[in-house]
Amino acid sequence: MERIVEINQLTKKFGSQVAVDEVSFSVDKGTILGLLGPNGAGKSTTINMITGLLKKTAGEIKLFGKEASEKNRDLRKKIGVVPQELAIYHDLSAEENVRYFGGLYGLRGQKLKDATEKALKAVGLWERKKDKSATFSGGMQRRLNIAMAIVHEPEFVIMDEPTVGIDTQSRNYILETIEKMRAEGKTLIYTSHYMEEVERLADTIVVIDHGKVIATGTEAELVNLVTDQKNITITVANPQAVNLAEIEEQSGVIQTSLQEQQLVVTVSVESNALNRLLMQLIKQGVEVDSVDQQRIDLETVFLNLTGRNLRDK
Ligand code: ADP
Ligand code: MG
Repeated sequence: MERIVEINQLTKKFGSQVAVDEVSFSVDKGTILGLLGPNGAGKSTTINMITGLLKKTAGEIKLFGKEASEKNRDLRKKIGVVPQELAIYHDLSAEENVRYFGGLYGLRGQKLKDATEKALKAVGLWERKKDKSATFSGGMQRRLNIAMAIVHEPEFVIMDEPTVGIDTQSRNYILETIEKMRAEGKTLIYTSHYMEEVERLADTIVVIDHGKVIATGTEAELVNLVTDQKNITITVANPQAVNLAEIEEQSGVIQTSLQEQQLVVTVSVESNALNRLLMQLIKQGVEVDSVDQQRIDLETVFLNLTGRNLRDK
């Protein structure tokens, strides 16, 4: 598989403060990497070194297999950057903003016209193309910022907290835009401190705190780092029918307890025991009223790994 990004021991110091501390990760073509961490973790600093906005203190950055320090114009055309700070000209209309950026990437004439239309449609702003961006809500401005970053149809897109502080509708638009880009085979790095978004979008999650990578993996792999067990709670109508000994013999089942109508089965996280458990209960003639699975989310993972909450409370 083609590697789009590979960073190795990347470090950034501001004076004596180490904002990014030997961070390493890689992103394969067609996948989404979610960079998850609280405010001040070093997400933007990492992103800004990858895009060349900030000079690295140490380490290695490879983009499309090439050392990124070479000032390579072809490379820039393949990358779209949505910065954390908006980069919009408020006196221009949505269309003019997008056209301007398309022009910077060398698009002209009909090509520029078509690309502008496609980008504005992708973020749901085509109907508002003639309106000055100053009249847009915060969420619409964020969406415009994305259209400006993808007008040249880059293969690889970096988005820095594109959904912070915006309305639900705009947020959904942006998440859907990202999902569509993945479906088209694009590669993405996405930073966020919203774990729900990262869970929904990211193929690989890099958890970062105080400039350091704390954990890397899929959501399931990260959950496995902090616990290998979870509880399934089943409410049953006829507890006398439950055969606990038989349930305990099943693979993946660690322990069971039955109190009145509540059957609690502790299973290993990886075991996918729920289906087998329900089949077994049905065989035993047990009437199941409700099932509840303990959810171990990234918030729990983060708390376990760092002793802190992901979000400022
Ligand atoms: P995040 O994007 O995860 O919220 P940042 O990368 O913006 O975090 O910041 C990481 C750390 O580096 C913070 O402590 C921040 O104050 C510091 N920092 C960021 N940019 C600068 C800068 N230009 N000069 C000095 N310190 C900075
Ligand atoms: Mg940031």
